[in-house]
Amino acid sequence: MRIVVTGAAGFLGSHLTDRLLAEGHHVTGVDNLLTGHRHNLEQATRYPTFSFVEHDVVDPLPLGCGWDQVYHLASPASPPMYQRDPVQTARINFLGTLNALELARKAGARFLLASTSETYGDPEVHPQPESYRGNVNQTGPRACYDEGKRIAETLSFDFHRQHGVDIRVARIFNTYGPRMNPDDGRVVSSFIDRALRGQDVTVFGDGSQTRSFCYVSDLVDGLCRLMTTEATLGPVNLGNPEEISMLDLARTIIGMTGSASEVAFAALPQDDPRQRRPDITRAGDVLGWGPTIALRDGLSRTIDDHVALTQDRRARTRAGA
Ligand code: NAD
Ligand code: UDP
Repeated sequence: MRIVVTGAAGFLGSHLTDRLLAEGHHVTGVDNLLTGHRHNLEQATRYPTFSFVEHDVVDPLPLGCGWDQVYHLASPASPPMYQRDPVQTARINFLGTLNALELARKAGARFLLASTSETYGDPEVHPQPESYRGNVNQTGPRACYDEGKRIAETLSFDFHRQHGVDIRVARIFNTYGPRMNPDDGRVVSSFIDRALRGQDVTVFGDGSQTRSFCYVSDLVDGLCRLMTTEATLGPVNLGNPEEISMLDLARTIIGMTGSASEVAFAALPQDDPRQRRPDITRAGDVLGWGPTIALRDGLSRTIDDHVALTQDRRARTRAGA
């Protein structure tokens, strides 16, 4: 297969790219390095079947035809990152998705959108099934991303109805693992980074809000199954239903790292969802998919990667690289 992955230099995009290359596919990664990094593609660049195009998806993709699949992941994903330039975030999710869909339409390729549990907003239904239409504050600080992903879903379904594009929409719940950027503000990488430095681990609010964390290899497996299934589907939730409060997550990470860090509390950001857990019945029934890695196992691998990355950076600094 000849496959395009937008957002390939990011956390999820780089793991997806590695998996597709290992399966023998030709992959072209597209990324403008807004929140991604070239070093995430070190493994990919060893394959002659990989190429990289530095490009902003807000502009039409300069890729021609001859593609079988387009995975569209390009978008900042961490709240501090997508709120840094909210107008641009909305632009990326509308125009970027439009351009990626145009590429799929012209090439006759199958298209997969990396959507999000954020389309459910601060959910009033728990756990969240795909049929739930959500509770998004369209004028709040998260709306640039939440509404951006909602219009991206709308565009995808309209390209299907109007142009016959074969689309897949994955609603991804919080995913974590190696290669998360420790500076991007997401909770798992922030907690691990601060615990390993012996700094206070900052829990927002009282820490009773919950999330459900999926390990990256499970998530990538779900994306690939969704892309390759022949079933015609609506959106599909992908995530791990193992739910945990942020206070318990902080304590777990402090314990696992053997850190002397303390938990500190800071103000809860506006519109921070109170609870989140995917109903993954559809993914189980249609894709035969479910998570296989328990939270503690995944955290242990993520902590090991973080330690290795930090040591590698220190060694490079010492070597003057
Ligand atoms: P990430 O920030 O690590 O990766 C996003 C990638 O997209 C980065 O490499 C970034 O440089 C690139 N990008 C951003 N804007 C771009 C633009 N205009 N043109 C080209 N490239 C651009 O985030 P991630 O966690 O890997 O998320 C990937 C996708 O999955 C995103 O669409 C995100 O919304 C979605 N998602 C992720 C999660 C999660 O928990 N990781 C949850 C729900 C949805
Ligand atoms: N969070 C926290 N401390 C941090 C970063 C995040 O307590 O340093 C909380 C945040 O308020 C939210 C949860 O952790 O309730 C998950 O935050 P993240 O930004 O990772 O993802 P999202 O809110 O998009 O699920």
